Amino acid sequence: MASTGIRRRSNRLARRQYGLVAAMVVVVFCLACRPGRAQQVALTAEEQAYVQNHGPVRLCVDPDWVPFESINSQGEHEGIAADLLRLVSERTGVTFRLVPTTDWDESLEASKDGRCQVLSFLNETPARNEWLLFTAPVFNDSNVFITREEHPFIDDPAGLTGESIVFPRGTSMEERVRSEYPNLRIVTTDSEMDALNMVSDRKADMTMRSLIIAAYTIKKEGLFNLKIAGRLPNYANNLRLGVVRSEPVLRGILDKGVVSITPQERGRIVNEHVAINVQTGLDKALALKIGLAFALVAGLGFAWNYKLKKYNAELMRLSRTDLLTDLPNRRQVMDRLDEELQRATRYHRPFAVIILDIDHFKSVNDRLGHQGGDRFLVAFGRILREAVRSCDLAGRIGGEEFLVLCPETDLEQAVQLAERIRAAVAAYDFEPGRHHSISAGVAAHLPGESADALLARADAALYRCKEGGRNKVCVL
Ligand code: GH3
Ligand code: MG
Ligand code: MG
Repeated sequence: MASTGIRRRSNRLARRQYGLVAAMVVVVFCLACRPGRAQQVALTAEEQAYVQNHGPVRLCVDPDWVPFESINSQGEHEGIAADLLRLVSERTGVTFRLVPTTDWDESLEASKDGRCQVLSFLNETPARNEWLLFTAPVFNDSNVFITREEHPFIDDPAGLTGESIVFPRGTSMEERVRSEYPNLRIVTTDSEMDALNMVSDRKADMTMRSLIIAAYTIKKEGLFNLKIAGRLPNYANNLRLGVVRSEPVLRGILDKGVVSITPQERGRIVNEHVAINVQTGLDKALALKIGLAFALVAGLGFAWNYKLKKYNAELMRLSRTDLLTDLPNRRQVMDRLDEELQRATRYHRPFAVIILDIDHFKSVNDRLGHQGGDRFLVAFGRILREAVRSCDLAGRIGGEEFLVLCPETDLEQAVQLAERIRAAVAAYDFEPGRHHSISAGVAAHLPGESADALLARADAALYRCKEGGRNKVCVL
């Protein structure tokens, strides 16, 4: 994998620290997940005959997709995909013979012209369905946006205008983003590394890569001016084995092998490839190196701590944020609800909640598709954020359900706030010629009332609005 021209903000020492910490994490993880016992899958008579009568299956792979897979200098297939395929092979009896190619495009071509029968690790797409059959996913991995550090969080890619996104040529993600986000300018390049370099060197605004690849590469190359800026919920990589259409029996056999792989086995394999190798032998030179490494760790501990704190804070924020709307998620809102109730009870202060539900949201999805529905949710999130006061907390607690916590607020004031949100949605022109509405259930806290009881009353009020024709604010 070419790595020239990468802007490296960190130095080697900082990378070594990453290595050490990664190694410790791996040791802990590997202790926690011991491999399960190998098992043989049950094949039908036809499948058994296939395995006995056919020689090795011709396999094509991506020669440059570390750590998923690559072809090493000895011409062997290695990486996460190679280890998963080894398990499939052990359990089904199917053996593979690697047909080497120079790049992924050539592998796709080779599977079309019959030089290989199986592709190792790829997303299913309508275009690929023309000549391939797919097994169940052998591995799932999210796709994330990678930008430079200064880029804001991406909640809705449809809202980005004129920004460029770079993809290695021929990926399924390029196919999808090209058709679903015409507002983005697509640039293609030769390899994963080129794509990351172009973002790092300001030649493109973002790229979209698998979370595993991003974590691996940012760590390995020390690309600290890059960050993970968001995730598209419906853009997971469901990586499968692709089998040429003329081989349905082979697909059936491989599918059985694939579904026999357990999450623990996958976890173990990922850790073997994403982490840094840990050496076990000990000699004088190595002991000296380890001593130096510890001195470096101590010396750079301060800088490392700072960086780690920053990443932890970001992780904490992400775990408490709804990635679609960028509002607080259910967990954050419920934690705050408990805190606010304690405060209201202790100091005898008024407190109210509003549950909001978008009316007939299913029909928005039906008309505009799921992506259109998502855009509506993002727009609604923005309206909500603007409508509430700075002391309130509004979050997304379910698909199209939102909760607003209103400290220091009595029933009448909460109803006014809910009315304001309802009116803002009614006035918003999302789909030309159509009106959208929400219903809101409001409840003010009663002395001694639990969080569950308060929410149940707000929910019952909401139900009353729905029954009464929607586009209303109701109290209970
Ligand atoms: P009602 O007025 O009675 O609330 O009708 P509704 O259609 O809004 O309610 P229902 O609960 O029947 O349907 C909610 C829909 O919201 C169904 C689900 O597919 C959709 N939904 C949930 N989460 C998401 C999401 O994250 N994105 C999109 N696009 N749709 C979602
Ligand atoms: Mg609902
Ligand atoms: Mg609804």
